[in-house]
Amino acid sequence: MARRFVAGEGLDEALAAARVCNDHGMMVSLDYLGENVASTADAQHARDAYLEVFEKIAEQRLHANVSCKLTALGMDLSTEFCEGLVHSIVERAAATDNFLRVDMEGSAYTERTIELVKQVRSQSPAIGTVIQAYLFRSEQDVQDLLAYGCRIRLCKGAYKESPDVAFEKKSDVDANYVRLMKLLLPSGFYHGIATHDPRMIGATIRCAAESKVSKDDFEFQMLYGVRVDLQKRLVRDGYRVRVYIPYGNDWFPYFMRRLAERPANVGFFIRNFFR
Ligand SMILES: Cc1cc2nc3c(=O)[nH]c(=O)nc-3n(C[C@H](O)[C@H](O)[C@H](O)COP(=O)(O)OP(=O)(O)OC[C@H]3O[C@@H](n4cnc5c(N)ncnc54)[C@H](O)[C@@H]3O)c2cc1C
Repeated sequence: MARRFVAGEGLDEALAAARVCNDHGMMVSLDYLGENVASTADAQHARDAYLEVFEKIAEQRLHANVSCKLTALGMDLSTEFCEGLVHSIVERAAATDNFLRVDMEGSAYTERTIELVKQVRSQSPAIGTVIQAYLFRSEQDVQDLLAYGCRIRLCKGAYKESPDVAFEKKSDVDANYVRLMKLLLPSGFYHGIATHDPRMIGATIRCAAESKVSKDDFEFQMLYGVRVDLQKRLVRDGYRVRVYIPYGNDWFPYFMRRLAERPANVGFFIRNFFR
């Protein structure tokens, strides 16, 4: 069932899925799944997996970059240790003329993620991160990261958050998404607008036209297995589209977030389970 959202357990399956996306005119971000590792050995294993992905992307000349999670790289164990691993991955990204995107996790990690990314970004442009429109703090974080010239992926946010830190109503999240998108698009840096929501996509297209931001100066991003029709339509209309392709053994938390954000997916899951 998870196959709908996850390319497979091995890198080869992910690379094959990336090739198919490239053949359809879409770029890719490969994510080796994993989060909240409990030992430095597991974090180093994740680091090695990310290094290997950059090698394979270069070898196979794929239009792909890499997404990672800091808790897969030992953020829970030590920020300094985690930063060391991120540095080595970003060095590899830069050496292969590529880019590492640091995903944003639950709000307990937001501050540390932004600080770490700023620190690494001050030494290499080959790193960027993610801002979640559901958090109250995000406008401030956008301003902060833009001052570092940081490339941002804007998403709505996928974690269960407290009303003390995040908007609860979808309409408020959506309004903040549009507000943040309007800060990003004309900022002069290349950002990713990550959503499957046709209203967010429509607002982005209008904003780009009004601010005279060219179709080549930003990209839409969507998840593997979600709204493939929309992905293809945007490519047909001349927009840049990147598909986020997760792979690896540790797919369960990712899969659960995909089920949670859309109740219809749970029905789909149950129907197929009994079939
Ligand atoms: C490329 C990419 C990277 C992301 N990275 C992060 C990250 O680092 N941190 C983070 O917190 N979140 C991340 N997310 C997830 C994001 O925060 C949202 O949870 C998710 O994208 C759903 O929000 P939406 O913008 O698509 O809008 P919604 O309003 O949730 O959905 C709009 C429409 O999209 C379709 N849709 C959305 N989700 C699903 C689904 N799971 N299954 C089937 N259809 C669906 C439905 O048609 C729905 O009506 C990422 C999303 C994308 C696309």
